[in-house]
Amino acid sequence: MCGIFGVITNQDIPIGKIALEGIKRLEYRGYDSVGIVSQHDGKLFIKKDAGKIDEVHKKLKLDDFPGKIAIAHTRWATHGAPTKINSHPHTNCSNNITVVHNGIIENFMTLKEELIQRGHNFKSDTDTEIIPHLIEEKMKEGLDFKDSIIEALKILKGSYGLAILSLYVPDTIIAVRKESPIIIGIEPGVATYCASDFPAFLPLTKTYYILEDCEMAILKAGEVEFFDMNTSEIIEKKSQQIEWSINAAEKGGYKHFMLKEIYEQPEALKRTLKISNEDIKIFAQIILSANDIYITGAGTSLFASLAGKFIISKFLGKYIQAIECSELKGQLTNFLRDNSVIIAVSQSGETIDTIEAIRWAKKAQNLKILSITNAVGSSITRYSDHFIITQAGPEIGVAATKTYSCQVLTLALIALEIAKLRKIEPESEIQNYYKALKSTPQIIENFLSNNINLIRKIVKDLEKHSSYFFLARGISIGTAKEGGLKLKEVACRFIEGYSAASAKHGPIALVRKGYPIVFIAPPDETYVRLIGNLMEFKSRGGKIISIVVESDKKIRVHSDMTIDIPQPADIYHSIFSPITFIPALQLLAYYTAIFHGLDPDKPLNLSKTVTVH
Ligand code: GLU
Repeated sequence: MCGIFGVITNQDIPIGKIALEGIKRLEYRGYDSVGIVSQHDGKLFIKKDAGKIDEVHKKLKLDDFPGKIAIAHTRWATHGAPTKINSHPHTNCSNNITVVHNGIIENFMTLKEELIQRGHNFKSDTDTEIIPHLIEEKMKEGLDFKDSIIEALKILKGSYGLAILSLYVPDTIIAVRKESPIIIGIEPGVATYCASDFPAFLPLTKTYYILEDCEMAILKAGEVEFFDMNTSEIIEKKSQQIEWSINAAEKGGYKHFMLKEIYEQPEALKRTLKISNEDIKIFAQIILSANDIYITGAGTSLFASLAGKFIISKFLGKYIQAIECSELKGQLTNFLRDNSVIIAVSQSGETIDTIEAIRWAKKAQNLKILSITNAVGSSITRYSDHFIITQAGPEIGVAATKTYSCQVLTLALIALEIAKLRKIEPESEIQNYYKALKSTPQIIENFLSNNINLIRKIVKDLEKHSSYFFLARGISIGTAKEGGLKLKEVACRFIEGYSAASAKHGPIALVRKGYPIVFIAPPDETYVRLIGNLMEFKSRGGKIISIVVESDKKIRVHSDMTIDIPQPADIYHSIFSPITFIPALQLLAYYTAIFHGLDPDKPLNLSKTVTVH
């Protein structure tokens, strides 16, 4: 997920400064490289490099550009490592078309090969670079610049928000979008802006237009025209006014990044569902042919691993052991065998305990390391035989939310690929599981739009309790532990995720009248036994809050309160409940923090990337 910003003005103002400040306000969207191009006197001026905006600015003076028109980009790499050459803007062979891009071009490999055969020279490993070359190719066919863009984009599969600056139309920025956001800001008669998000131009203007999918905006200083990309016809749009303050807008209107990221889960999951099947297949094949399989991680990634281990084992027919990364060496010294596989899960790809574990394992035996991370170019990818990048996008809130659900989803995709390869289930059954997995973004979206008041009410009810339990069985134990972790992290409450069966061997001693216990109760094979556990706590006066599916009848009647997850009560959906049930627990943590006056984005003593032992 990158940030795009473009500015065109008729005023004599430092264009570099405007571009730099605009792109800086989008840094939350990506921060591995940055680039700006301006146009002046028939020439293009480009500066770009890998690194955070401030670092690159120190080196390249990003506020110093000639002209009255510029486009800028802050990158969160999806294709090609974060290097200078892969930084945007990208150009065509004649270096007179520049493009900044947010999104993924899925068919870029085939298109690139075709363009190379036609004599095009590519400099980067990105998917983006094919766009200026394709436009160039269309220009060669005799089309004008605007039609060349339209025709070039018809060939692309995938998602894009683009800003294009070219010497063919020196007083114009062209912006287009398909599935990646672009908005247009305007100071009528003076300046026009395009951006991935409002914060980029909020201090400059509050008047904006939303660009919809398959629309093009042609920006001149203080003017903008919109076109339908399918019919080339002009579209009349009404401008709107932004009502946020700059502070709110930086979080996209949300009070905290944590809340924003909880709400971004449906989109993040949709993107992760599109991960290349080739990568998933490689993971599946290696896991299938391994002797011993281990899955490892720390914190949230370990709890995602616990869920993943259940889902994969079900279809693999072999046991997978989940081991905390810091314990891996201790537990496996003398037991690690050749032809084993370690699946390492890390949001940042920099967690030192995970990296140490896999480096040790690789040295100890001839085995394969498969890693799942959200960060392109991170250390873990260098130490892995194969890696998959989840598509959660930048996560700024220190407490992991959307990266967790994307990790579990990725592991679920691997599990279903294993099921396909093993052919142990009829194809129609596997399709039912795929359908259920693909419905997880919608289930979460429906849940998030209907349950905030209920969650707040529960938070208020639990206000006096600084300790309680999330209890669960089977696959949901990971969910319970992740929920407990979130409460500890952001709300400073000692809430423990625990096995419901084990809870009677100790923790039940804490229960008095009104002591809260939250049961995580999807209708899977553990359901009946879980009711038994629930009754043990209820009969001792516990206050029972249950998280169930909407059609649940049994647990509901024994509970003081229920949180309903809007999903069908079948086995296909239940196995993916670690994805669909977790937003309820994330929201409980978030609103508990708010209730107690804590800042959920800045938990005490925590850092997002743990690079110390
Ligand atoms: N796919 C482009 C790249 O890797 C854009 C990335 C993005 O939008 O996150 O450079």
